[in-house]
Amino acid sequence: MSHYTTVLEKSDKKNAMVVKTHHESESLGIHIRGSCDTWRHPDHVRFEAERLVIDTLEDMLRTAHRKSSELDLPKKWRPRLEITWHPNRRTSYHKRGTITLALCHYVPRNGVGEASFTYTEYKRLQKEPAIGGFTTNDWRNCVRALVAHELAHAIQRSGVPHHKGRHRKIDYKKPHGHGFQQLYALLRRKHVRPFLDAEKMDECISI
Ligand SMILES: [Zn+2]
Repeated sequence: MSHYTTVLEKSDKKNAMVVKTHHESESLGIHIRGSCDTWRHPDHVRFEAERLVIDTLEDMLRTAHRKSSELDLPKKWRPRLEITWHPNRRTSYHKRGTITLALCHYVPRNGVGEASFTYTEYKRLQKEPAIGGFTTNDWRNCVRALVAHELAHAIQRSGVPHHKGRHRKIDYKKPHGHGFQQLYALLRRKHVRPFLDAEKMDECISI
């Protein structure tokens, strides 16, 4: 994983270090937070998950920027990304243009994990077919869905879709309202569903 340059920066809190990781081939810098002595995942597992998050986010941003998405996001628009590996952090969120992902409980310590993983959505979304919860054999699919959820919030909060054509009639203000659900469904359909479908195909073939 020589793609990564990891720089330890001075502590922002007692016993906590801020680690800044850059990917060499891209300008996208992400901030990684978590106290080193409480990191439970070995470097190669963390790096794989971080790489997955970056790649997934880039792919999703390409979709969101596409003219056919009708969102008309400015070409350079992107959220900032922060990842925390702290074991006590379970909640991911979007706040003022920054997506913060708490990955510790999504990524198995050995990078492989159990045979089955469950992705749970907010109660009112959990049963929706396109954007609800699911089980999968691969933890990576849960991480992809997590990125889609928080990116949908970031786009929703960007203010961009609120004033465009038919989008004017859509409620983008409510946190998990209609506008959010549309954005989230678009990202899930293109960037999560194909992986879940492929998994089902494999299961059918192996039976
Ligand atoms: Zn949410």
